[in-house]
Amino acid sequence: MNYILPLLSVVFGYAIALLIQPKKKKNLKLLLAFSGSFLLSLTVLDLLPEVYESHQAGIGVFIMLGILFQIILEFFSKGAEHGHVHGHGTIKKLPWLLFVSLCIHAFLEGFPVGQHHNLAYGIAIHHLPIAVILTTFFLDAQLNKTALFFFMMAFAVMTPLGTFASEALPGLQKYYAKITAVVIGILFHISSTIIFESSEGHKFNIAKISMIILGILLACFI
Ligand SMILES: [Zn+2]
Ligand SMILES: [Zn+2]
Repeated sequence: MNYILPLLSVVFGYAIALLIQPKKKKNLKLLLAFSGSFLLSLTVLDLLPEVYESHQAGIGVFIMLGILFQIILEFFSKGAEHGHVHGHGTIKKLPWLLFVSLCIHAFLEGFPVGQHHNLAYGIAIHHLPIAVILTTFFLDAQLNKTALFFFMMAFAVMTPLGTFASEALPGLQKYYAKITAVVIGILFHISSTIIFESSEGHKFNIAKISMIILGILLACFI
């Protein structure tokens, strides 16, 4: 499940976008709001206590480094990790910077999944709307179908690959708490940005608030 869920969610999102080409942006926004609060809650409830219990020095610094790292990644990805795409017109070539930064992001996110099974659900729910949004964007931009397929499949395998690396490379185990702290920083930034961007102009929106509360509750009882 740890490997399958994050993989399938991207493949599924890609397929949905290809087959139905969702017109209703509203539902996607709600799913995004839910994924943001669910992911943030899992991070605070599950991941955060564990890294501090490891009693390693400088854990807080690594969390801040994770936040900083994600901010830097978003200079290149323009916010694709939180379902934000910019640009008009057609895209002829694969956007490599976006691709590489999205892959690094997804790979790192896979790291703590082996120890935190709930996070597999969190990442899956977080990457599903992003796969739909990215595929729809690239289809509109008339990106080559093969390049699009390659892009989405690579994105899909990155998180399971990160999980695999954390379990298969014993050398990394020594740094488990520190790398997880970096991932916590990444998740903090991503999920709070998703929640922030889903509430346009800070207007009260009962549907979005409900999705955010639902995300918190689900993370508490899972
Ligand atoms: Zn954004
Ligand atoms: Zn992600």
